[in-house]
Amino acid sequence: MSDRTDDADETHPHDVDDTPTVTCSRCDHEWDLAYELDDLEVGNQSFEQFAIDHMRHTGHFPDGVSPWVVSCRRCPEGDEFLSSHPARRWAETHARHTRHTVEIEHVDEETKVVAPD
Ligand SMILES: [Zn+2]
Ligand SMILES: [Zn+2]
Repeated sequence: MSDRTDDADETHPHDVDDTPTVTCSRCDHEWDLAYELDDLEVGNQSFEQFAIDHMRHTGHFPDGVSPWVVSCRRCPEGDEFLSSHPARRWAETHARHTRHTVEIEHVDEETKVVAPD
């Protein structure tokens, strides 16, 4: 028989406190991502989802996130991304549409410059 429902204990981390938390020093706040997990059911993407939501609401990422920062050299346009692909896509699109030169910055990378053709 496989219709046991009493194996919920396996999901309770008694030994390791691995409840995902996220902090934001700019907001001086800490959140427990376990709630996010329940609400959003996005699994281990919860941190990324939280970071994106936080960015939308506050304009900055929480601690522990090293965003790819895209900024235009010629106008105030810019954005922040959690991975390089959308950052690069944004930069290339902006450069193509406006003929502006755009910089992509990340803590682990050299600054890239995307110039219009
Ligand atoms: Zn914040
Ligand atoms: Zn621009």
